[in-house]
Amino acid sequence: METNGAVVNAKENIISWYKDGRGGKPPTPPDHWNGNNARGALIARQGLFCAYCQVGLKLICPTTTVDHFRPQRAGEEDDHQGYLWLAFDWSNLYLVCDTCNKAKGTYFPLLDPAQRVAFSNRDDIDQEEPLLLDPSEPFPPDLVTLKLCDSFPFLLLEVNPNHPGAARATATISKLRLHGMGRTEWLKHRKKAVDKLFESLEKKREQGNSGPLPPSQPNRTKPDPQRRPRSRHFSRHAEPTNDPS
Ligand SMILES: [Zn+2]
Repeated sequence: METNGAVVNAKENIISWYKDGRGGKPPTPPDHWNGNNARGALIARQGLFCAYCQVGLKLICPTTTVDHFRPQRAGEEDDHQGYLWLAFDWSNLYLVCDTCNKAKGTYFPLLDPAQRVAFSNRDDIDQEEPLLLDPSEPFPPDLVTLKLCDSFPFLLLEVNPNHPGAARATATISKLRLHGMGRTEWLKHRKKAVDKLFESLEKKREQGNSGPLPPSQPNRTKPDPQRRPRSRHFSRHAEPTNDPS
């Protein structure tokens, strides 16, 4: 088990490397963020769900990992020296499933590439506008509509093209494959959840209501534009008090 002292040392080494103004790529720090203490702190903040696709996670599971929203190595193709100074920053860490982590990789484009900050002007980081949606941002209720259908992949995500966040939502869904491409097990679980929901609704209707379906219940054979994706919003500013270790 890593100690907080080890994390402090690792952070100081990264900061020193940037301050020394060395060229090239910064060295890779030890992955204290993958320790069980760090994972437990992240679960306490965001719940036991992937921050991107919201699939249920197990605490100790080889298919879960800790993702750096601003990747350690992002932007290096442009002589940028990455975001390693945020490697141990709680606001940059999310517990995610392995599928999302691999799909995202070091992908981190900005709406305006000229906005990308470096260590030297890191205080301006809030001026960056990432193309990917940040899981800790409040999710606009009218940005994406969830439509049900009987055939594969059973649920469709439709982006409102008139919403100012449409480009970001489209890029996020595509990059993280939230339509379900390559996510066979995830889709099976999602279909089971939908089947369970409709069985429950049907049972309630049979037990207590012989009339027509209530207006809030979607017609399974026809997409319901009123259904919205579930969003487990959490504040990344509700940070654990200790370092990731
Ligand atoms: Zn995921």
